Amino acid sequence: MRGAVLHTSPGELVIEDLTIDKPGPNEVLINTTHAGLCHSDLHFMDGHWPVAQSMVMGHESAGVVAAVGDDVTYVAPGDHVITCVSMWCGVCRMCLQGKPYLCLDADSMRSGRPTPSLTFEDGRPCTAFAGLGSFAEELLVHERAVVKIRDDMPLDRAALIGCGVTTGLGAVMRTAAVPAGSSVVVIGCGGIGLSAVQGARIVGATPIIAVDLVASKLEMARTLGATHTVDASEVDPVAAVHEITEGGADYSFEAIGLSATAEQSWHMIGIGGTATIIGMLPMNSEVTIPGGHIIMSEKKLQGSLMGGNRFRLDMPKFIDLYLDGRLKLDEMVSATIDIGEVNDGYAAMKAGETLRSVIAF
Ligand SMILES: [Zn+2]
Ligand SMILES: [Zn+2]
Repeated sequence: MRGAVLHTSPGELVIEDLTIDKPGPNEVLINTTHAGLCHSDLHFMDGHWPVAQSMVMGHESAGVVAAVGDDVTYVAPGDHVITCVSMWCGVCRMCLQGKPYLCLDADSMRSGRPTPSLTFEDGRPCTAFAGLGSFAEELLVHERAVVKIRDDMPLDRAALIGCGVTTGLGAVMRTAAVPAGSSVVVIGCGGIGLSAVQGARIVGATPIIAVDLVASKLEMARTLGATHTVDASEVDPVAAVHEITEGGADYSFEAIGLSATAEQSWHMIGIGGTATIIGMLPMNSEVTIPGGHIIMSEKKLQGSLMGGNRFRLDMPKFIDLYLDGRLKLDEMVSATIDIGEVNDGYAAMKAGETLRSVIAF
């Protein structure tokens, strides 16, 4: 079967023929139907985050269960599923604190099998990004990496929920738990930022301010729920947010992953406000905030990993929101592509030409 492999970082993806193992205990083999091009993979291709060995990239997918290993009772062949990187053990300190997305033992579910799940034609092992490796025709994953979904949910739209949509909605609904009526600003209107805008609309925030440098993205933000837009190429975005909110937003969300915008997200909130960083700041980056603000205005800065998801609870609800029209996903898919076009898809994303491309297998 074909998969898109990153051999070195930085580097481009190479389409390789791979052999996938049979499902072992607690494992599920999935025929991938769709995989979204999430921005996070780009950090590895660009060399901002390292890769230790050849790896099938991708982590945002949906598909149909083809086979299950011993002990798997949650799904059966034919079930439609979404995959998620947030595997959880259920017994570690973080799981017991109700934060399964921070599971301390997730890596054993991502890479704990005795033999490699993927091998190249010459027998060399290949790894799967985040224990998923969604840019491949088949996926062999731990059962705790899947959620069963309604059969009437289109799988191309379902794939988006596997990462970007859940990360953006979850940052608003789970991590920040934004109450109705709060003012919200979202910096960066890519797939995750626009999902945060939608989350803010769904929970009843107002105003909802979207900040970006690209006019077409700001227009999309309005379509998806922003009440105000700020073009940061034309005005000082911090001053603009303070003006709209009369002193600073209650909640800000940084969805780019840059130190400068992370610092802006802090300055955009007012007294008692909370800034939430969703963007993948590079490992070696630093964020500087003025010390005096922290106490005197009781502002908070926090990270949000994968939208603080409990994905077997959250994703079926997000699907219900889509099917009843409250969550807009059709607007977020700009192109459906073949796996052979994956590098072009990422180039278009980098150039700001596309919001989300989805590979159809
Ligand atoms: Zn755990
Ligand atoms: Zn992602």
